[in-house]
Amino acid sequence: MNFLEGTHDISNALLKHRRITPYRVPKFYREHIARSAYYDQLKRIVEPSLREFAGPGKLDTSGEADNTVVPGLQHKYPQTGLLLVTEQCAAFCRYCFRKRFVGSSDKEVAPDFARVAEYIRLHPEMNNVLFSGGDPLMLSSRRLDRILDHLLPIPHLTSIRFGSKTPAFNPRRLADDSLLDLFERIRCAGKQPVIVAHFDHFAEFSTESHARIRQYQSAGVQFLNQTVLLAGVNDDADTLAATFEECHAIGVRPYYLFQTRPVLGASHFQVPLRRGVAIVRDINRKLSGIQKTFRYIMSHETGKIEILDVDDGNRIYLRYHQCTDSHRIGRVFSRYCPPDACWFDDLLPETRSTTNSSLPRQARTTRIRLVPSVDTSRFDNATCRETTRAGARRA
Ligand code: SF4
Repeated sequence: MNFLEGTHDISNALLKHRRITPYRVPKFYREHIARSAYYDQLKRIVEPSLREFAGPGKLDTSGEADNTVVPGLQHKYPQTGLLLVTEQCAAFCRYCFRKRFVGSSDKEVAPDFARVAEYIRLHPEMNNVLFSGGDPLMLSSRRLDRILDHLLPIPHLTSIRFGSKTPAFNPRRLADDSLLDLFERIRCAGKQPVIVAHFDHFAEFSTESHARIRQYQSAGVQFLNQTVLLAGVNDDADTLAATFEECHAIGVRPYYLFQTRPVLGASHFQVPLRRGVAIVRDINRKLSGIQKTFRYIMSHETGKIEILDVDDGNRIYLRYHQCTDSHRIGRVFSRYCPPDACWFDDLLPETRSTTNSSLPRQARTTRIRLVPSVDTSRFDNATCRETTRAGARRA
């Protein structure tokens, strides 16, 4: 098998045994990236690395288990239901935050959509459902239709979203008329169909992806794009600005630029926050007002935290874009940002002069857990309120 570090005699069975994401790349994507001038960057998205066998991180960085309300359905924010419909993807991204099950286990996938629909019916505050996984467009149109049989009759659902990297990995899947019919069915049921595409680099766009996106837009499907900030792939302002320009040019709204999560086996993709902020500043200098529609976000277990800026004293300014405690949404707060901090849990409430910033990240993370009221590891709906009030006082 091809690893970034060279060829190694390792099978998918051994990867599975070591609980490492399997290797899969469809012919379309393999040939497309090999033809591009950016193969050295793009291969990092799909080719495994020996660094996946070791390293820090955890398997559920967003507290997904805690937010699961019926098997396969997460309800973290009032308006949105997140539905795991498959563990399969056209290719497996090496940085995936659902490494704990993609390509290997369907035990987190919703087994009973009648039960899911029953929960949603009882929660009128939920106005949209996000099909996720895995990649929902890996399911047959027939299977997706059966799931929609349960969801489309629910009157308070106003949109159905599909989080998918298929427009990049295998846009030919979108040539299937039955899939287009399915999106038409959603529209005719009075719901807005949305595809949240996942282009990390402008060179992932192909002639086919352009054509299919245009075709689906003509059928009333809205497109957004989310991108993950990935060391060695797209961690420079020119690449990301060009990616967002490309999105904008074909009517795909740049939506989130995600800070890579500290996922076990993927932490080597993380870019330090200070550098991420500098990159985002440069991106914004390169884009026109109508192109800079993205937010730089950490999807933390407490909520989606927008990363705003770092000042000359290395305090980082943050704002909850979404939070399990709705009172926290929109409030700006700050933390001290050590040079190698890559995640919210690496940040410190103190100023540099009083921190142990010479300690390794792991040690600092241990220390922050000893500081009263900043124990992010114990966030839940009850403690969130108490913790964020204390945080707001300090900020
Ligand atoms: S396509 Fe999405 S779910 Fe699948 S491996 Fe990539 S990031 Fe993970």
